[in-house]
Amino acid sequence: MGKQTTGTFRPSTDDLVANNESFAQAFADHGLSLGPKRHLAVVACMDSRMDIFEMLGLAHGDAHIIRNAGGVITNDVIRSLVVSQRLLDTREIILIHHTNCGLEGLVEGALLDEIVEDCGIKPWWSLESFKDPYSDVRQSIGRILHSPFIKYKDHVRGFVYDVETGRLTEVDPDPRHFSDAARH
Ligand SMILES: [Zn+2]
Repeated sequence: MGKQTTGTFRPSTDDLVANNESFAQAFADHGLSLGPKRHLAVVACMDSRMDIFEMLGLAHGDAHIIRNAGGVITNDVIRSLVVSQRLLDTREIILIHHTNCGLEGLVEGALLDEIVEDCGIKPWWSLESFKDPYSDVRQSIGRILHSPFIKYKDHVRGFVYDVETGRLTEVDPDPRHFSDAARH
């Protein structure tokens, strides 16, 4: 997060559109159903190092993947989960946050001041920074369990992905158990 140099920036879109031409020529995913085959929704951080399908061994058509900065349960994630469950028949939710997140340890005050100075208006959303990814997953599980709009809550599990090992560690959802955060 924060200011990064854009000195070497060159837009990628043209390259990606060319890549898609090859992709479409080899395309073999015809006829997949609209509703995810595993009846699963994954809510994950947008981090570019995480390929959710690959890390979980998912096939195309298996799951909804809902992503934002941090994998935070915002109103719009709730909206997506409502569509996922009520219209497209998902019954299970997996949350994936990760180590070395851009939001981890972010001091929000300076960034908020910068935004207000640039835009002249205070954001009506929260940056949702956090100190520990394990307790942040616990927060997210709690928001899902407390949401009146989420119909199916029997299968909600949360994990932290280690960007250096590729391994998932499950988070104990009980807020009284902070030992897993201390172990990592
Ligand atoms: Zn992240």
